[in-house]
Amino acid sequence: MVGRKANAWAARDATGHLSPYSFHLRDTGIEDVVLRVMYCGIDHTDLHQIRGELTSNTKYPLVPGHEVVGEVVELGSEVKKFRVGDIVGVGGIVGSCGECSLCNSNLDQYCSHRILPYNAVYKDGTPTHGGFSSNMVVHQRFAVKIPEKLAPEQAAPLLCAGVTAYSPLKQWMGCNENVKGGIMGLGGVGHLGVKIAKAMGHHVTVISSSDKKRKEAMEDLNADAFLVSTDKDEMRTAANSLDYILDTIPVFHSLQSYLSLLKTQGKLILVGAPQQPLHIQAGDMILGKKTITGSFIGSMEEVQELLDFWAGKGMTTMIELVKMSYVNNAFERMEKNDVRYRFVLDVASSNLE
Ligand code: NAP
Ligand code: ZN
Repeated sequence: MVGRKANAWAARDATGHLSPYSFHLRDTGIEDVVLRVMYCGIDHTDLHQIRGELTSNTKYPLVPGHEVVGEVVELGSEVKKFRVGDIVGVGGIVGSCGECSLCNSNLDQYCSHRILPYNAVYKDGTPTHGGFSSNMVVHQRFAVKIPEKLAPEQAAPLLCAGVTAYSPLKQWMGCNENVKGGIMGLGGVGHLGVKIAKAMGHHVTVISSSDKKRKEAMEDLNADAFLVSTDKDEMRTAANSLDYILDTIPVFHSLQSYLSLLKTQGKLILVGAPQQPLHIQAGDMILGKKTITGSFIGSMEEVQELLDFWAGKGMTTMIELVKMSYVNNAFERMEKNDVRYRFVLDVASSNLE
């Protein structure tokens, strides 16, 4: 059976400009669910991808979107996990080998055969397309249940941005009132990082590129401290004070001044994905026995855990809901650092044609 037709918005070339595009979904496999997409978050990775910044062979037309919330409208014959009508989420991966030691340890996102939601090729040879689309087909392993208590548009940013902060903070720091952390870059990932770190009991410092977000960081996000990274006096005063920094900055930045904020044996966790190599001075690492690590989204288990944790605590994401016709403006504003803090597309009520 040929899959159903989907209406979407796609980038056609590295200008990244999106316009209406239609395609046929891949055939519904026995373990697949078909979604009617309701909402989709806009992540900075989508901006990197539509511009061809992350891979040398970006495949156009490219339908972005990997913070997808939708209603199940069709099920493969072997799907036990969901029912028609369930509200489910899809995040940063849609496939893996399912057999290697990483997949067997719920670390599919690190599987060398992982399949990204777009700009990739599915097992049947068809291109993958993301959530800026009326419909999506996904293997049940890569979908999670959105808790009833959580509004679907609120859940969208948790599926990638949220778990990107949650996974490394849980692994390296956990719930601990003695931990002092820094969140670098107060955007989509950063604002959820602050909320998650606070919920884990950490003392949280926001490290921002300007003073503009100070008031909102302290009052709306309940951060404990705020540092402007270009203010040398503030940075000097905060030297050797943090156990970790979660670096979410999407553009090139020198790490030297940030590393000075870490205590001895502190950890810099890279999640932002600038195109250019980041420079470090060996001495800055050696003399403080510091660690730099990286982290890619989170496991499906962690995504579900975060959604349940969020719903259980009645936490909120800070989003600006927009229609698909606004998507090019949204990317422009994201690039200018003009969003508080995540655009979410109201796909279901947008005209996609
Ligand atoms: P975003 O919403 O655009 O936020 C990025 C933040 O970085 C901005 O709010 C800004 O915070 C700061 N920034 C500093 N200099 C900037 C500049 N020149 N242009 C834009 N922002 C600047 O982005 P996001 O969606 O949170 O994503 C952040 C990065 O993480 C991207 O590189 C994305 O690809 C990556 N990412 C990685 C993963 C993963 O699995 N590792 C998952 C999701 C996203 P201030 O105003 O506070 O300085
Ligand atoms: Zn694998």
